[in-house]
Amino acid sequence: MTDCIFCKIIAGEIPSTNVYKDEQVTAFRDINPAAPTHILIVPNKHIDSSNFLIADDEALIGHLFTVAKDLAKQEGIAESGYRLMMNTNAEGGQTVFHIHLHLLGGRQMKGFG
Ligand code: 5GP
Ligand code: ZN
Repeated sequence: MTDCIFCKIIAGEIPSTNVYKDEQVTAFRDINPAAPTHILIVPNKHIDSSNFLIADDEALIGHLFTVAKDLAKQEGIAESGYRLMMNTNAEGGQTVFHIHLHLLGGRQMKGFG
């Protein structure tokens, strides 16, 4: 996806503060953090939203969560707690149409907005 900002970040064409990368996913700090820890865990493969997931993506989506759990530990918030969140389409609050898991922590999370 040539016009996708997260594809460009994954390709290294746009700067980002990366905290993890492997063959399947890239994780980087959110440019506009909503909490002291705000990391986006993003599949290297472009998928517009959760609406486009297929059965073949199940291992990939599971991997987003295990990477998120490891990053929570690395950030020192595994025990205090954190929130993992994926937004879909307008009413879900999705603004970047390349699927991503938010890791939010370092403060008390409240409500469901
Ligand atoms: P969404 O609203 O789609 O769930 O989340 C998109 C997130 O991407 C937002 O929290 C926004 O701050 C972040 N974001 C948008 N553009 C960039 C960017 O160029 N770099 C980084 N690091 N984060 C971005
Ligand atoms: Zn993309």
